[in-house]
Amino acid sequence: TTDKARKPDWLRIKLTTDGNYAEIKDMMRSKTLHSVCEEARCPNIYECWANRTATFMILGDICTRACRFCAVKTGLPTELDLQEPERVAEAAEQMGLRHCVVTSVARDDLKDGGASIFAETIRAIRRRLPLCSVEVLIPDFMGNWEALQIVMDANPDILNHNIETVERLSDRVRAKAKYNRSIELLKQAKAMKPNIPTKSSIMLGVGEEWDEIIKAMEDLRAVDCNILTLGQYLQPTPNHLEVERYVHPDEFKQLKEEGLRRGFSHVESGPMVRSSYHAHEQVQSAAAS
Ligand code: SF4
Ligand code: SF4
Repeated sequence: TTDKARKPDWLRIKLTTDGNYAEIKDMMRSKTLHSVCEEARCPNIYECWANRTATFMILGDICTRACRFCAVKTGLPTELDLQEPERVAEAAEQMGLRHCVVTSVARDDLKDGGASIFAETIRAIRRRLPLCSVEVLIPDFMGNWEALQIVMDANPDILNHNIETVERLSDRVRAKAKYNRSIELLKQAKAMKPNIPTKSSIMLGVGEEWDEIIKAMEDLRAVDCNILTLGQYLQPTPNHLEVERYVHPDEFKQLKEEGLRRGFSHVESGPMVRSSYHAHEQVQSAAAS
């Protein structure tokens, strides 16, 4: 396709086949679990799974929102699966995970947005794998801070919430989410549990300007957000938001410097970086800082 023709070299990756991969895939199916690694066709899947990091998507695979960059199906979600936390924990145990990321679709249909299932999942993983760090990548719960408190009370190792893009483009790129509400969520999380590192992510290549990225970094640092990830946006299907530009790896490096200078304890920045990429190292550096 023309899209592929336009894609620069640094985004063409070599896939190495690893014996574990098929086995883990089968296990996910048999437990009716969803991993972002597979469903987003994440380019880092081999590296992450080999390094014992994976991202589970809980609360179903149908989202109540429809962000223009996201390939997750939109619709009315199915009923709550109360056994899911335990199945995620079992899978994490079988995979021997050292770092487990738990995320979900936006469940605006639920009173607590699914917060109690997040909390249960954190606790279930802790029971089986006391040494595994658990990062949650949460939706904005429509600004319901009581729901956020339920998650924080389960003491995740990292509280992650993505602003996704700069302020000017936020309404165009994300559905129903608000830039300021996302910043406020990170502020509230920090106020509730000052020792839990917070994290956010910006995808680049959707039309943002350099100064706007810097401003977003400053907004995140103003609420003491500790970890930042920056990656290239890739269009999941031709019906999704178009890629405005491919950001050069050198620019990602410069942005990493800008982030570190502004006080983030860890900045992961590169074309292939996804929110959970090298997440295990991020826990260590946040703990050390
Ligand atoms: Fe999975 Fe995240 Fe790694 Fe991609 S970066 S493979 S989604 S853990
Ligand atoms: Fe995708 Fe999350 Fe937006 Fe739902 S809320 S469409 S899962 S990015």
